Amino acid sequence: MERISWDQYYMSQSHLLALRSTCERLAVGATIVRDKRVIAGGYNGSPSGSVHCIDEGCKVIDGHCVRTIHAEVNAILQCAKFGVATEGAEIYVTHFPCLNCCKTIIQSGIQKIFYAHDYKNHPYAIELLEEAGVEYEKVELDYLHIDTNTKDKLYFMTSLIEKLEERGASDEELQDLRMKANQLFTYSD
Ligand SMILES: [Zn+2]
Ligand SMILES: [Zn+2]
Repeated sequence: MERISWDQYYMSQSHLLALRSTCERLAVGATIVRDKRVIAGGYNGSPSGSVHCIDEGCKVIDGHCVRTIHAEVNAILQCAKFGVATEGAEIYVTHFPCLNCCKTIIQSGIQKIFYAHDYKNHPYAIELLEEAGVEYEKVELDYLHIDTNTKDKLYFMTSLIEKLEERGASDEELQDLRMKANQLFTYSD
C-alpha cells in the first residue's frame, strides 16, 4: 500500500476546503500546519452574516470580487479567533496567494507557503517573501484527484455518443459506450 506524503495530505485538505468556497470567480482553499498538525483551514467566502456570491452574484469593483475574504486570511483569522499561534507554521494553498495575502502571511510569522497552482504570481509579492525569508514551493496535487465537473463530462460524452448514433453506429456499440460513460462519470452506491 502506498502511503500518502504529508505534503499531499495537507494539499488534499486545501483542495477539499476549496470546494466549500462561496465565490464563483475562484475557489481557493488554505490549510495551516504547525509541527505536522493542522491548526486551521479556510476557503474564500463572505464575512460571517453576509450574503454569498453563489446566491447573490459577486460584488465586483475594479474587476475584483470585493465581498470575499481570501482563504489564507480566513485560515489566519481562525487562529486569531481561537488564540492559536501561527509563528513558524506552514500554509498549504491551492493557488499562489495574492499580494495582500502574501503580506498577511509574512506578518503572521508563517515560514513557508506550499501552493498547487500558479495564479498571477505577483512579482512584488515574491520580492516581499524573499525579503522576509518566507519560502514558497510548488506542490502539485498528484495523489487525490477531485473531480468537480463530472456532469459536464457526462454531458459531453453523451453528445459524442449521439453523434456516433447519427453516423450509424450499431445499437450494440452504442449501448456499450453508454454503459462505460455512466460507469466513469456517475457515482455508484
Ligand atoms: Zn464573489
Ligand atoms: Zn488573497
